[in-house]
Amino acid sequence: MTEAFRAHCPRCDDERVCIIRGEFDQPWSVDDGRNHMEGEIDHKLVQCAGCETVFYYKSSWDDQDWDGEYHPVTGESIITFPRTVETYPSPEKKSQKPDWVWSIGQIDPQLHTILYEVYQAYEIESFILASVGLRTALDRTTEFLNIDPGHSLERKVKELLDNGFIGETEAATLAIVADAGNAAAHRGWAPDRETFKTLITTLEHFIYRVVVTGKAALKLTKSIPARQPRPKKQPIQPT
Ligand SMILES: [Zn+2]
Repeated sequence: MTEAFRAHCPRCDDERVCIIRGEFDQPWSVDDGRNHMEGEIDHKLVQCAGCETVFYYKSSWDDQDWDGEYHPVTGESIITFPRTVETYPSPEKKSQKPDWVWSIGQIDPQLHTILYEVYQAYEIESFILASVGLRTALDRTTEFLNIDPGHSLERKVKELLDNGFIGETEAATLAIVADAGNAAAHRGWAPDRETFKTLITTLEHFIYRVVVTGKAALKLTKSIPARQPRPKKQPIQPT
């Protein structure tokens, strides 16, 4: 039995047994007539056997980077080429990102990409970029909910409220998210850490509820007529 392939899973942030879903080895060499260099890059698409996250694994070596040793018995010299391993995405240390953000990739890849960048900016305290990203994520979520993309974002927040997706308090904070993103984009305004935390937490709750759990509507407002109970289906009699 071959030994299980192990790699550092970016989501578990630890070494895990992984399933290899695809791979190829790419040897390379460069020769300018005087100097010769060669190496190899091994590419793998792997899936963590624990959390099932799929990620890219690259292992490479080249002949400029080598270690020399002598065999303890025969005294022969042994040259080894240490491999450099990289995985993408790289594991996130002390990430603020809630775990469910991973699952958004399967629901709305575009929203996942936006949120991914928001957390990257957040982690390095780039609050201007992160605020613009929050606004973009909010906008994308309204699109996901089929709010008319032609409206201003402020108007979209109002529609979320009118359509019962959010309550008054959430609408007020999401309006600030829209406004903060706008101020950051056009006037270079940057919230402090505490303010940003409040904004992102509200947006997280909203996105989690309407996108991840799919519980789109909090409550139906008066503007939406209540559904009439459907008439019970009559069983179809065989003819
Ligand atoms: Zn994992």
